[in-house]
Amino acid sequence: MNLDHLNKEQQKAATHIDGPLLILAGAGSGKTATMTHRIAYLIEQGVSPYSILAVTFTNKAAKEMRDRVEKLVGPCPGMWIMTFHAMSLRILREYYYAAGYDRNFVVYDTVDQKTLIKNIIKEQNIDSKQFPAPYLSAIISKEKEADSAPENFFDLSDRSPKAKVIYNVYKEYQRQLKANNAMDFDDLLLNALHVLKDNPDILAQYQSRFRYIMVDEYQDTNHIQYEIIKMMAQGHKNLCVVGDDDQCIYQWRGADIRNILDFEKDFPSTKVIKLEQNYRSCGNILSAAHSVIKNNRGRKAKKLWTEAEAGSPIVYKRCDSDKEEAYYVAQEIELLSGSGKKGYDDFAVLYRTNAQSRLFEDALKRRHIPYQILSGFSFYERKETKDMICYMRLVVNPADDLALKRIINEPKRGIGATTLGKLETLAKVKGQSLFETLSQEEVIYSLPAKVSAAVKELMDVMKLCREEKENLRVSDIYDNLLVKTGYMKALEDENTLEAESRIENLLDFKSFIYDFEEEKANAGEPATLEEFLERVATDSDTDKYDDESGKVTLMTMHSAKGLEFPVVFMPGMEDGLFPGHRALDREDGLEEERRLCYVGMTRAKERLFLTSAAYRVLYGHGEYTRESAFLRELDKSLLDEAGDTIYEPSRRTNNRLGVDTGSLDGYNENPPFRPYNFDPLKYAKQSVKEAAAGRGEEFMQGDQVTHGKFGHGIVVDSDAKTVTVVFEEAGTKKLAKGIAPLKKV
Ligand code: ATP
Ligand code: MG
Repeated sequence: MNLDHLNKEQQKAATHIDGPLLILAGAGSGKTATMTHRIAYLIEQGVSPYSILAVTFTNKAAKEMRDRVEKLVGPCPGMWIMTFHAMSLRILREYYYAAGYDRNFVVYDTVDQKTLIKNIIKEQNIDSKQFPAPYLSAIISKEKEADSAPENFFDLSDRSPKAKVIYNVYKEYQRQLKANNAMDFDDLLLNALHVLKDNPDILAQYQSRFRYIMVDEYQDTNHIQYEIIKMMAQGHKNLCVVGDDDQCIYQWRGADIRNILDFEKDFPSTKVIKLEQNYRSCGNILSAAHSVIKNNRGRKAKKLWTEAEAGSPIVYKRCDSDKEEAYYVAQEIELLSGSGKKGYDDFAVLYRTNAQSRLFEDALKRRHIPYQILSGFSFYERKETKDMICYMRLVVNPADDLALKRIINEPKRGIGATTLGKLETLAKVKGQSLFETLSQEEVIYSLPAKVSAAVKELMDVMKLCREEKENLRVSDIYDNLLVKTGYMKALEDENTLEAESRIENLLDFKSFIYDFEEEKANAGEPATLEEFLERVATDSDTDKYDDESGKVTLMTMHSAKGLEFPVVFMPGMEDGLFPGHRALDREDGLEEERRLCYVGMTRAKERLFLTSAAYRVLYGHGEYTRESAFLRELDKSLLDEAGDTIYEPSRRTNNRLGVDTGSLDGYNENPPFRPYNFDPLKYAKQSVKEAAAGRGEEFMQGDQVTHGKFGHGIVVDSDAKTVTVVFEEAGTKKLAKGIAPLKKV
């Protein structure tokens, strides 16, 4: 393989084969590129892809890395390139029993997590003002990140009544997750860790399999991830980690910067390679980023250099208000793209919290500038999408009480809180899941006549989908659920604009399912409902980022990690917002915010714009603001003279002119909104219905048919309920009538 286009140090790193390796280097120095080449190099040297494990920070980064490696050395079956969560999921799908779960466990996202906690708050009669669900869920998550069980939490606490409440909720939360055969995100990592730790034979398999292990963005690994990797690497000790201590921005979510700083201690014979040439940014941008980050004390000193020219100076603009700021950014984008040299997808607006996004959306819309927003209200969190996801989850895992409770009266089946409460009690007494309880005829018939008919219909559809799951595509199952549960009809009957837009969203979601099926088909892998649901649960913001969309990208600085854009805007450079008040409460808070600032600035290749607003309304609260501490640290000689000057405050400033950033909710954890891209509504609606309902056809022996999933075949038998078909490729299948996507040809 020709590695000539890499520099000397990069080459050294890419061709280092045996023994632990630490690549510690600043932003844009080619860390990710080097790791990619190293994988390709190993394979070229005869290492089997099967024995390579590479961990990335997002699904999208994983996919890109795999594509690049395969471009260099051809197909790499069996190679694991994935995120920590995806890896844990893989391990748990294989060894679910060692974690004490059933094979078809599901993954709960942050919304499910909060719902579950809210239910527990109610059940335990806890004062939700004193113990709001987000507060409890944050504590529980912190404990799990530290591998601390409820008992452990309580033992180490002050054992106050408050600690007791938290302990009770945490314990009950874990109990219900298990009962629902569900794991939350933290559980994925935690359970994988315990499976490996407690089962030497399982661990040994992975240890011997993975001869080469690599981790990108190592500075942001948390304690559990660190433990998992450390254990897996004990076999061959060929662990290569790549990172930048200046870019550790997830401490608030448990990332431990010491993992990278102490790597040499954990693996004594480590070879350390530093990359110092930056290939991404113009000189001015690099110097500006450096002038800010050098104010952090707890960092390994390093300075990047570049062969690139200094480029344009950094532009700073102080706007009168947040509205004006958004207007200014949109205007600049229009001006810069007007010359034709830049496409809209060359621009990114990177903000501190999702709450800032709305004004930029408005301003861009007004100028008809297309944008993709990778944050804010998530696609999967829309009510109707979430409902359908719960229906699908129940098909896979009937033990999921949370999902059943969500959809049991969606659409209305006449099951109010009282009836549901009774059913839940019954289930508890019987020691069954709600689904099991509701599957029993005597339970169904004990309900009022109208309700019982509706419930029976629901349970029949669910049962049919479950039984026929293997014979249907994910999209078929979706169509059936949408139509046969009455969900779609209920929306149609509503006949309001809102209902119409919900239907649009549901059809939009279907194109998302199609994309998934197509992607799997291209990879030659089966597209299962289980995997689709996993995708839904573990997708992150950045996974939806499309770099060839022809659209301006709006996202938080956190999600922009690892990405690059020709032109970057960083709005909201104000004390209280960035750095935020909350962060300042914590030790190290300011340093983490400064690293985030460094990450944001170093995303820019050619132009960097910093802006602030003198007056800002955030979370419904308006205030005058002071310019960000980071602006004051910035090397002023790099600024464009045409822009505004940064105010140097007198030392006596004692009025607090900050802005409340609200809560940690502003951080970006949710998967993004998907840009609309669907067929005309009517057509799509019709096709969903046809697919789900138009299956009353009679089949006779000898009929030639096509099946949505299995392709072409011949009917060999048919009775009242089933059709048996011999397919050319899939062989003989017995299919349920009324749901099988069969057509005569
Ligand atoms: P970050 O810290 O942001 O994750 P990184 O260190 O991983 O950055 P890369 O994303 O790998 O850096 O590389 C930054 C840019 O520099 C990319 O556009 C990459 O293609 C380019 N690049 C890396 N190495 C070289 C090289 N030797 N010659 C030319 N371009 C390079
Ligand atoms: Mg990188």
